[in-house]
Amino acid sequence: MNIEKLMQLLEAKHPGETEYLQAVHEVLSTIEDAYNDHPEFEKAKIAERLVEPDRIFTFKVPWVDDRGDVQVNLGYRVQFNNAIGPYKGGLRFHPSVNLSILKFLGFEQIFKNALTTLPMGGGKGGSDFNPKGKSDGEVMRFCQAFMTELWRYIGPETDVPAGDIGVGGREVGYLYGMYRKLARENSGVLTGKNLEFGGSLIRPEATGFGGLYFVKQMLETAGTSIKDKTIAISGFGNVAWGAALKATEMGAKVVTISGPDGYIYDEAGISGQKIDYMLELRATCNDIVSPYAEKFGANFVPDKRPWEQKVDIALPCATQNELNEEDAQLLIKNGVMCVAEISNMGCTPEAIELFIYHKIMYGPGKAVNAGGVATSGLEMTQNAMHISWPAQEVDARLHLIMSEIHAQCLKYGRDSNGYINYMKGANIAGFLKVAKAMLAQGVI
Ligand code: GLU
Repeated sequence: MNIEKLMQLLEAKHPGETEYLQAVHEVLSTIEDAYNDHPEFEKAKIAERLVEPDRIFTFKVPWVDDRGDVQVNLGYRVQFNNAIGPYKGGLRFHPSVNLSILKFLGFEQIFKNALTTLPMGGGKGGSDFNPKGKSDGEVMRFCQAFMTELWRYIGPETDVPAGDIGVGGREVGYLYGMYRKLARENSGVLTGKNLEFGGSLIRPEATGFGGLYFVKQMLETAGTSIKDKTIAISGFGNVAWGAALKATEMGAKVVTISGPDGYIYDEAGISGQKIDYMLELRATCNDIVSPYAEKFGANFVPDKRPWEQKVDIALPCATQNELNEEDAQLLIKNGVMCVAEISNMGCTPEAIELFIYHKIMYGPGKAVNAGGVATSGLEMTQNAMHISWPAQEVDARLHLIMSEIHAQCLKYGRDSNGYINYMKGANIAGFLKVAKAMLAQGVI
């Protein structure tokens, strides 16, 4: 495989799609040796076939706001690869959403889903709709309008969307209601549903919980433990909430959360009712974290990111490229020992390079945050069997899956000097599974 040539080709074909090109480059550059060990991959042009989505749907979403004005948004679904199972991946509603972001997310999802051990392909979708400041009625009308287009392309055995940034239980409910009406079926076509109509216990917590199960194993493999460690978390949504809950339960101390307005530093630790308050804050939809400081008497640092604080562990839980080279330098200077992305592609390539150079434990999103989609896979299984498992069963399976992902990273990521390159391990393990499936199924 000639990576530089393939990247040049992609850059020419998809100019300006920076996030997508970044995600592809990261994977290709880490799997190169494994790829070249298999001449049959090159012969079947696996890399060239893998980097392009199977298909992309783009559609218009017209809807009427509370003032009676007509609004027009764009909707997308990227069906990236279904070699090992139905397309699976969330929907993101955020004004920044564009094709590059959804293609990067869909591409990452292929390998993440392969790592979960469950039969799920990769996909992603969403809209540039901004949920900030929208009424409940507006969110419902938007979701209904979105689904009147999307429903044709998805199905419980074809493509199973879920939540992501801006899409939580409420949005999944509205989307599911419209799908059910149009398709005249009750099925597991979306995951992240409420418990009353097919949702799975532990799904809301799963991304954060799974992330902490993974981090605990990273630390234990390095001969230390998570107990009494200080943790910086970014974001204050569902993922940050689940991570704070599990980290606190494991005996660590979470000292930061953040929003687009800045970050909170709470020296006493963000625990108990302070964690519950994150959900309340999120529900107001103003997308600001500063009210936490007023309520609990903590520090609010406007327009800054939490990475300037001295902590043992940093957990990006907000969005892509939210931790850059400068942030990485500050964390390293302050003695960070572990950085694990619970957001997708949370660190820039320059930041990752620094962590690896300094032999800091670094966990990539596609391994660390796979617990979310894994539990979505468990929701699909429960829906297909028309039963629901108790919380302990789902949690036990989530635990097992995260351990298996960690083991795969060790298998493929251990460097000759003993350093565990989790990024390389996750990319190779995920890639090999998908590549072998593609090879076995012929050129299609
Ligand atoms: N959006 C989540 C992710 O990035 C979950 C996707 C899902 O549950 O399908 O993996």
